Amino acid sequence: MHNAVILSIGDELLRGKIVDTNFAYLARKLYFLGIKVSVHHTFSDTEEWVCAGIDSAVEMAEIIFITGGLGPTRDDTTRNGLARFLGKDLVLNQRIAQKIREFFRKRNLEMPENNLVQAYLPDGAVPIENDEGTAPGIFVNYHSKLIFLLPGPPSEMMTVFKSVRLILQKELDLKPKSYATFRTIGIPESLIAEWVGKMTLPDSIDTAFYPSLMGVDLYISSDNPDDVESAENILSEKLSPYTFARDEGRKIEAVIGEILRRRNETLSVAESCTGGMLASKIVDIPGSSDYFLGGIVSYANSAKLNILGIDEKTLSKYGAVSRQIAEQMSFGAKSKFDTDYGIGITGIAGPSSETSKKPVGLVYVALSTRERNYVRKYNFFGGRNAIRTRSVSAGLNVLWCALQFGDIEKYPFEDGGEFC
Ligand code: ATP
Repeated sequence: MHNAVILSIGDELLRGKIVDTNFAYLARKLYFLGIKVSVHHTFSDTEEWVCAGIDSAVEMAEIIFITGGLGPTRDDTTRNGLARFLGKDLVLNQRIAQKIREFFRKRNLEMPENNLVQAYLPDGAVPIENDEGTAPGIFVNYHSKLIFLLPGPPSEMMTVFKSVRLILQKELDLKPKSYATFRTIGIPESLIAEWVGKMTLPDSIDTAFYPSLMGVDLYISSDNPDDVESAENILSEKLSPYTFARDEGRKIEAVIGEILRRRNETLSVAESCTGGMLASKIVDIPGSSDYFLGGIVSYANSAKLNILGIDEKTLSKYGAVSRQIAEQMSFGAKSKFDTDYGIGITGIAGPSSETSKKPVGLVYVALSTRERNYVRKYNFFGGRNAIRTRSVSAGLNVLWCALQFGDIEKYPFEDGGEFC
């Protein structure tokens, strides 16, 4: 297996001001390409540190990735550090200089002269196009060690990495791993791990879990494609009720959107504690106007009464965070917008609750379909944002289950909630 070192450059990283997502992205992509990352270091953004970092990295691995510090300012010293290591001068690349001028001209902006610094590369280095920004990536083959400089901003780094991947495939005889993805929702990581632990998967299979507040992704990989296929079959038996997508990039809200569009059905929402987060997720998907008619953020009781048409007596009897109000919210949204489905969410996101009978994390999620209404009660844990995100995930999960499996009364929920 090929060996790599990743160097992250930047004082912002060392001060803990930003989290190194570039490293995580690169490490994961490289793993699946069949490249082993043996070492990861973070260096201060001075020419000396960058040079010393590359110097030690070439001793350890055949491929070196360096991210950050390619900007136009004085503290962006990565290209100088590389030039110093190589013992080369920085030379103006006219084509890149032209691209940078174009970048500004197209946006009707005046180009600060120091931006041209980004068009200087160590003599003999190859620029890698960056369509997201002005700093090109840089590639150098140094005595068969492949050195790649990538910009720091994640979207630019990812764009440049697409070309890096092609260079790697050309330069090395890569044996990418076979892998498969299960994107799950409404089931805790610990339960999936327990199930997987009891399964007899082929020995060569590696499993990795990536949990987030929206769900858990399970990746399986192996050098042997047949083993991946047989593991997929075994896992599917147990996980398919919770698996909304089998490819990495697809989100639950996109899957829901595709089903609604295909069936020519529509959706609306009424939100209290999530304050529009659910609607926002839904409209993140391009083309959502085909099926999403709208949402109401009915945060105050008055909004619930006046806009959603919730019954005043029910509200004073059971309170805003209750099964009855969640149900009326989902039904209210469905009726007001005249949609096929309505989701209602009401809960206590914290950090404090006005009554001990209704603790922080208590959330009711309701779904109204053409046939009937469902309400599920949850006791989520975590801070305010975690509770709100988990509520959104529960709302999407309940809808997805109904779209996928019809009547959800008998669906084997593992989301910690209960019908009420
Ligand atoms: P710029 O032209 O913006 O200066 P650059 O290549 O010099 O780009 P840096 O200055 O190191 O990159 O970082 C710019 C921004 O990119 C940082 O403020 C941060 O938001 C993000 N960034 C940098 N490195 C990382 C990283 N390792 N992980 C996540 N984000 C990062």
